[in-house]
Amino acid sequence: MTNGNKRKDSRSTKAFEEAKQIIPGGVNSPVRAFKSVGLTPLFMERGLGSRVYDIDGNEFIDYIGSWGPLIVGHSHPEVVEAIKKTAELGTSFGAPTELETAMARLVIDRVPSMEQVRMVNSGTEATMSALRLARGYTKRSKIVKFEGCYHGHADSLLIKAGSGVATLGLPDSPGVPENVAVNTITVPYNDIDSIRTAFERFGEEIAAVIVEPIAGNMGVVPPQAGFLQELRSLTSQYGSLLIFDEVMTGFRVGLNCAQGLYGITPDLTCLGKVIGGGLPVGAYGGKREIMEQMAPSGPIYQAGTLSGNPLAMAAGYTTLKLLGEPGVYEELERKSARLEAGFLANARELGIPSTINRVGSMICPFFTDRQVTDYETAKTSDLQKFNRYFAALLDYGISIAPSQYEGMFVSTAHTDEDIEATIQAHYHALKA
Ligand code: PMP
Repeated sequence: MTNGNKRKDSRSTKAFEEAKQIIPGGVNSPVRAFKSVGLTPLFMERGLGSRVYDIDGNEFIDYIGSWGPLIVGHSHPEVVEAIKKTAELGTSFGAPTELETAMARLVIDRVPSMEQVRMVNSGTEATMSALRLARGYTKRSKIVKFEGCYHGHADSLLIKAGSGVATLGLPDSPGVPENVAVNTITVPYNDIDSIRTAFERFGEEIAAVIVEPIAGNMGVVPPQAGFLQELRSLTSQYGSLLIFDEVMTGFRVGLNCAQGLYGITPDLTCLGKVIGGGLPVGAYGGKREIMEQMAPSGPIYQAGTLSGNPLAMAAGYTTLKLLGEPGVYEELERKSARLEAGFLANARELGIPSTINRVGSMICPFFTDRQVTDYETAKTSDLQKFNRYFAALLDYGISIAPSQYEGMFVSTAHTDEDIEATIQAHYHALKA
């Protein structure tokens, strides 16, 4: 399925029609519907390693990886085995298990800013809870977020957000009360002057700054030199908390997450995706003194029927263990750098404007000749071109996220042959 012929889609089309009758838009998360690219979504049947297979029998080399979690590939045998073994002992207890402590230990050993950590069920829950904690701890109301960053769908974070809301043009969702929105200050990513101004005006009222240390929801946008340092020093100066939303970057860009890469110590960190190994998990953690404000050790409330779920802990723990083996991130870097170089060479040869941003195994080709450093510059991308490129890539057997505002994820399951095939497909898709 790498010849550029139109893929078969009759079964997916029928399945989508049926789903649309009883699920809003036919999907349980908006971007999956392929609405912005004007195609029928692929209904998946199975995944193995670097590949996914849809119900029409098409095979794709997959760079979505379930939107980030599958850093060791689909259905990794050790992850599947761990889930099976754990399930045989029970799927959920709503009581503490030793596995939760082992998981917490593994996370805090690798992320020194986290002295305590609590597991939740999604990235959204992690950021929502971290914000409540920051507000409760500082006794302040305002938060600062950056335009084009996405932190899940909690009310106060759905302001000028990235990801699906950017893709669908809904960055300020209806249903978010105005009295919530007034407490969210938004400033452009990488803009040190704006963040300084925000602190000069509102500094004493700001509970926290929440940031994706590498933005991954407006395409991939790395922090510029000094940006994260400035956030650290301003928050410290004003007594606000610095929250790193590492739901996407956590254990994706390195064993010590983005904070390890850039040498910044946030007060709180949010995790998700990779730490669940493909099962529903989020987590937030940080300094002991702050985390102990959470119930039952402190007065700030947050809970979850399935939090710390054994299957999710088993999948996450096994994934993190696999990532701890020697050379894993070096290999991810090598393959991702090869992909980037191939993409760049293709674009140059064909004379197509393209800017490629990459940090480790997060990579994003933008259809623009501008440098992409924030949401405004990300939006200079030619979306019509992206859509045609996306459709052509599918016909060449490559699956990427159906949006210019999402990155591609390389996994340990991608082989050198996969990478070469992807560079070839990219060439043909650009030409198309
Ligand atoms: N924060 C970031 C940085 C994310 O990328 C995402 C999801 N893409 C979230 C939070 C929300 O996570 P979830 O979809 O698991 O609620």
